[in-house]
Amino acid sequence: MALINEPTVRLVSRTHVDWDAVAAFLDDEDVPPVPESIRAGEDEAAAVIEISARICYMSYGKGRKDIADFVTNLLSKGDGSVFEHVNYGFMVTGVSRALTHELVRHRAGFAYSQRSQRFVNESDADFVVPPAIAEGGAGTEKARELLESAIEQSQNSYKALVSELYKVLPEEDFEATTDRRKAVRQAARAVLPNATETKIFVTANVRALRHFIEMRGAAFADWEIRKVALMMLRILQEEAPLLFGDFTISKLPDGTEIAAPIHSKV
Ligand SMILES: Cc1cc2nc3c(=O)[nH]c(=O)nc-3n(C[C@H](O)[C@H](O)[C@H](O)COP(=O)(O)OP(=O)(O)OC[C@H]3O[C@@H](n4cnc5c(N)ncnc54)[C@H](O)[C@@H]3O)c2cc1C
Repeated sequence: MALINEPTVRLVSRTHVDWDAVAAFLDDEDVPPVPESIRAGEDEAAAVIEISARICYMSYGKGRKDIADFVTNLLSKGDGSVFEHVNYGFMVTGVSRALTHELVRHRAGFAYSQRSQRFVNESDADFVVPPAIAEGGAGTEKARELLESAIEQSQNSYKALVSELYKVLPEEDFEATTDRRKAVRQAARAVLPNATETKIFVTANVRALRHFIEMRGAAFADWEIRKVALMMLRILQEEAPLLFGDFTISKLPDGTEIAAPIHSKV
């Protein structure tokens, strides 16, 4: 059993533009070709937003010529729906079931695939230490000791329950071995704590991600999910500065960080 102090967030998928198809569309519509019609250049995320926004008024080759100005105008007017065309996929690991329970409350524009506690054996699971008592925090030794001992007890109870449940759920009651295994694990997981480590694949569009980061990057959010929201934000600010550049990150007196956008809930 390992105790995890830091989550891991990896950006693994993004939206791409098929420039040949876009060029064919512009040609069909008898409007200027890509460089004059689409000002985003090689910034594919901004390009998708520009292409989708310009179709509303068929403004290819007209109007705002600067892509930063174009995107900021959409954000400031709250024209949020065009931001739904760009998606990012993250693999998030080293996080607790407590965090993912909060994460999956974000419904609109999100897709999730999470490690199953029914299919996967949790006998050797790892556990996440809440940031308030993560390694290195001065004076938190006693709290960590209490946490470790509670986790150890839970994991021992899980293992004992698994072996007991195999005795009381006989093989002949199940059509397949996997059904019996699931029945055992789904009952035994009752004693696993919120701190149990999990892994989740999260895909979301830019509008949804902006809302998520605003809600979960705020001071009133739990420290663990706040950390993940800020990790995502830092990745996205690098990846798509025009779409996430209006968020600023600052430090609270307790040492934790928060994020807030200029353009709220577009
Ligand atoms: C600090 C904090 C504390 C919280 N504490 C609790 C708590 O104690 N208990 C609890 O149950 N939850 C709690 N939540 C969760 C919260 O209530 C939301 O479920 C969660 O933040 C997801 O927000 P959302 O619904 O805006 O997001 P999404 O589900 O992603 O929705 C985004 C937006 O789409 C619109 N929308 C989505 N679904 C609908 C719909 N069905 N009908 C109409 N409009 C819709 C809304 O405008 C919504 O804001 C907490 C959240 C935070 C940030």
